[in-house]
Amino acid sequence: MTSINRQWLLAKRPQGHVTEECFELVETEIPALEDGQILIQNHYFAFEPAMRGWIDDAPNYLPPVQIGEVMRASAAGEVIQSKHPDYEVGDRVSGLFGWQEYTALTPGGLQAATKVPDGLDLTAPLSILGMTSVTAYFGLLDVGEPKAGETVVVTGAAGATGSVAAQIARIKGCRVIGIAGGPEKCAWLRDEARLDEVIDYKNENLMDRLGELCPDGIDVAFDNVGGEQLDAILFHIANHARISLCGAISGYNDAEPQPRLRYVGNLIKRRVRMQGFIILDYLGRAGEAMADLTQWASAGEIAHRVDVQEGIANVPKTFLRLFSGENQGKQLLKLV
Ligand code: NDP
Repeated sequence: MTSINRQWLLAKRPQGHVTEECFELVETEIPALEDGQILIQNHYFAFEPAMRGWIDDAPNYLPPVQIGEVMRASAAGEVIQSKHPDYEVGDRVSGLFGWQEYTALTPGGLQAATKVPDGLDLTAPLSILGMTSVTAYFGLLDVGEPKAGETVVVTGAAGATGSVAAQIARIKGCRVIGIAGGPEKCAWLRDEARLDEVIDYKNENLMDRLGELCPDGIDVAFDNVGGEQLDAILFHIANHARISLCGAISGYNDAEPQPRLRYVGNLIKRRVRMQGFIILDYLGRAGEAMADLTQWASAGEIAHRVDVQEGIANVPKTFLRLFSGENQGKQLLKLV
């Protein structure tokens, strides 16, 4: 076995758009294990837009990654050494193992190493049975409270979180409109995810199309994007609607805060509830989501795509795909 661990460190904080130069690839020695630790060989990394927030020097729901630290990231791999009574060599695990080939840790808390059940592909806990799907589940059902027959609009609908939220709304008997960028993503949403309507915000007038498709207003919105897309939703929102604020990716690379929403006054006039949420608050209930998601996925009721890039050299480049919209579904990278 090699003694070298290639790691991507945070080299500098982005000013506005995150770039590849914000990260630096280094080679270090694989550390010797202490009692209670395990050594994991990582096979896959998962990429999330939230990681952009973790590299700003600003308060967030997790502490900022410091300059010179290994970039925090979800990963899945295999235990190759163990000095912990609950883990054996060969166990497959997922957790926040960071952008590095080998991770030594004492399992627990933020360093949890969750075992991947036998028979499940190692990509599953990073994608369809992972954090983004659990986010979609509780963000839609708990925060959005959709009822059968209601009109639900999902932004970022072709992405990892949005595509699952939109399909759960469809399973619950709602009329679902997905908003995504480009004809390929919209065709997938229509043909594979089986949404009722799609809007290609890059090639159509979002404000006009929402008006055509939602003449009685939007009952539930699941928003991943913020900015202009949220403003168009606010314009077309129905009385007593619920807006679940999951993310605001349109602003993550802005050096300055976005312009104010113009139609926020409709929240008052139309008695709308708009609520943000963070998935960490639901981790104690993840089993509920997992039971339903497993059943829906195995019954073919939820279509799902993973976009797997390859090679440790391509890690920062792969992260940037989330912000250009190049990712086709859940963005992963395989270490080869
Ligand atoms: P996705 O798989 O949805 O990938 C990101 C997508 O966002 C891109 O493919 C692109 O889709 C879209 N996008 C990127 N930049 C812009 C932009 N400037 N304007 C509009 N759309 C843009 O990622 P995830 O599913 O992992 O994350 C989706 C959202 O969910 C994020 O906002 C994330 O922060 C949030 N999230 C929130 C959690 C919580 O606890 N609240 C937990 C997990 C995720 P397109 O090509 O269609 O534009």
